[in-house]
Amino acid sequence: MKTPQTLVIIRERFTVFALKVVELIVRFKRTTEKMFLSWEKWVKPEGNIALEKLVSRFPRYLNPPSGSVRCGAGWYPLVWDLCTAIEAMEHLGMPRIGHFKAEARLGGLFVRIESGSFIVKELARDTEHKAAAVCEECGAAGSLQLGHGFAKTLCPVHARKRKPQKAKAVTVSQGMGDGDPMLLFLDTEFTDFDYPQLISIALVSASGESFYAELADGWSPEGCSPFVTANVLPQLTGSNFFQERNYARRRLAEWLNSFVVPVRVVCDAPGFDWVLMVDLLHDVFPKNLYPAPIHYYSESFPGLFELLQKAHAEAYNEFPPHHALHDAEALREAWEVMKEHLHPAILKQYLKL
Ligand SMILES: [Zn+2]
Repeated sequence: MKTPQTLVIIRERFTVFALKVVELIVRFKRTTEKMFLSWEKWVKPEGNIALEKLVSRFPRYLNPPSGSVRCGAGWYPLVWDLCTAIEAMEHLGMPRIGHFKAEARLGGLFVRIESGSFIVKELARDTEHKAAAVCEECGAAGSLQLGHGFAKTLCPVHARKRKPQKAKAVTVSQGMGDGDPMLLFLDTEFTDFDYPQLISIALVSASGESFYAELADGWSPEGCSPFVTANVLPQLTGSNFFQERNYARRRLAEWLNSFVVPVRVVCDAPGFDWVLMVDLLHDVFPKNLYPAPIHYYSESFPGLFELLQKAHAEAYNEFPPHHALHDAEALREAWEVMKEHLHPAILKQYLKL
């Protein structure tokens, strides 16, 4: 009897094999095109491809209404290759595909093709994954770039044009391993923006564990802005959570170390949350903690903005905002929503930022 797992493995191996065959056929097709069809129209141009040329080469797939291409020119060669592969498979007797759509969305290339063939689905997926490493503007090697209000896969040159103060690339310290780190969603409350002193800190892990502390020293009610006095202080939990700074520091370091796996912080205001957390940890910065946080921009993906807002609002149904633990939970909820909607390849890029 075959277990579901062996079936998955067999299917995966077959997929790899099928994709290799398709690649061979496409290569063969290319060579014969070059030999027998001297019309320049048929052969994939080197470098830039104009949209008209792409569409006129594959009118049955790409000409509206049978299909559409809505992305930057950097991704046209990928679409060209995909169409060549599909064409080759149709020549071999595969039923013709239906509607074809390739469009830039949420920083990635989304390809949707009406077809019963799983090889076509694999080819489409493969194209999406390739696009996640290719500049949408020029076709050079690229990676996901995020800013306020935009997410795009770009090469360093186009990224620089897009946002002059490109956020630093993160170098992960040695010995972190290749596995994905456990994400920890961080939020802090502090006295005021001009002279921020940590009042409370919360972290919620992707696996559901949480850390919360309110500091007994290092800040004073007199140093709080009117907003903090009105919205943050009345919500402090007190009791056991109210701790000396030194004690909270040790507890936090222990909590972080207890993960055993590498952990990485996600926060939406690293200039405050992350800086205050590092300051609290001071000389007990755990070895398994990534030296830089992931900056979560809720407005990077305009297409998701409404959903994220909704997730945020729902998270506050039970508890009001401006309590660090509730805010960290809300951040985790929003992240989950984003994760559900982003292409896996784009999410992977996000995590590399
Ligand atoms: Zn570029």
